[in-house]
Amino acid sequence: MEKIDYLIIGQGIAGTTLSYNILQRGKTCHVASDDNSISSSYISAGVINPVTGRRIVKSWMIDELMTTARLTYGGIGELLGENFITSREITKLLSDVEEENLWLSKMDDLPEYLGYENDSERYRKHFNDYRSVGKIKNAMVVNIKQLLKSWEKFLTNKQLLIKARISPEEMFVENEGVRYRDVNYSKLIFADGHNGLSTRFFDFLPYKNAKGEVLHIRSKEYSLNEMIKGTSGIIPEGDTFWIGSSYEWDSKSELPSKANYNRILKRFDQMSKFEYEIISHSAGMRACSVDRRPYIGRHPEIDAFWIMNGLGTKGMSLAPYFSLHLLNHIEENKPLIKTVDIKRMLT
Ligand SMILES: Cc1cc2nc3c(=O)[nH]c(=O)nc-3n(C[C@H](O)[C@H](O)[C@H](O)COP(=O)(O)OP(=O)(O)OC[C@H]3O[C@@H](n4cnc5c(N)ncnc54)[C@H](O)[C@@H]3O)c2cc1C
Repeated sequence: MEKIDYLIIGQGIAGTTLSYNILQRGKTCHVASDDNSISSSYISAGVINPVTGRRIVKSWMIDELMTTARLTYGGIGELLGENFITSREITKLLSDVEEENLWLSKMDDLPEYLGYENDSERYRKHFNDYRSVGKIKNAMVVNIKQLLKSWEKFLTNKQLLIKARISPEEMFVENEGVRYRDVNYSKLIFADGHNGLSTRFFDFLPYKNAKGEVLHIRSKEYSLNEMIKGTSGIIPEGDTFWIGSSYEWDSKSELPSKANYNRILKRFDQMSKFEYEIISHSAGMRACSVDRRPYIGRHPEIDAFWIMNGLGTKGMSLAPYFSLHLLNHIEENKPLIKTVDIKRMLT
């Protein structure tokens, strides 16, 4: 029987960065993926924002995460002869004096990430009712759709992709690993996002999922090639703009809804003053852990089963770092950070 080191379930950003790092180590792997164009990763904006929240604080571990993200996405790009990341600024429309004062006071704490636009009037042509304009420096955008498709093609060409939805009946846990379709895998890593097989095997991991919906628009009047953050987000994507997104906690439906469509449009229309046409409307599920830290680690009873999930709203920055972190643990016995180790949910 053929023997392979790893089977990864899922080729969203977690499965992509895991399989890249496994191959980089000279190990063997197969990736099982049903359709990554319906994954949360595919619908995401691909943004790595170094500051977060209303209080404008540095995102958790952001310096380390960004360093590894640059290396990983850069490395995949080099391997495939493409470029998947761009360093960008995010233009933040500050709504009132209070928000402006907070921003100005935070600029001293985070000079590497926060700036201020002196010519804020140039945005009046496109946007309503903002007080002034801040800048988030050193953000990054991952060209996520292209990355997922190019990595899928690479895996296919190397015959490492199993294009199927794996069902539990087809997997057999054996003494030395897991058997699936006449291949013995030493380890299986669930990188299957929302509602995947891992929810069945790792049923002690609680999720608080957030459905996100986005619109793609096209506009002849709007010409800014910047990421904008106001009451709504605008991100240039090819010749269209990504608009959104919404947050709906623990939604029962994975489908786009009329209510969220209207919500996104209402916010966007309050903020913008240019004509546009709507091209598409889509939805994705963010698999969020209950404590906002990823779920990483080994199954408490089945030694061959591992998981990397719960990347929530920040998969683009978390996946590169925690793929490496998990593999360093498995291959070199380096300890897992306690705040991400799934053991925390067992105590
Ligand atoms: C609207 C929206 C905007 C977002 N914007 C950003 C952003 O700008 N920046 C950011 O960092 N994050 C963003 N996110 C969050 C980000 O998308 C997630 O954190 C990330 O995509 C999670 O990646 P994942 O690989 O864990 O899961 P997924 O992307 O969901 O991938 C899991 C894959 O596994 C497959 N799968 C599941 N079960 C099986 C099985 N049995 N067999 C085979 N395949 C299986 C699924 O079909 C899927 O393709 C956004 C999310 C949404 C919804």
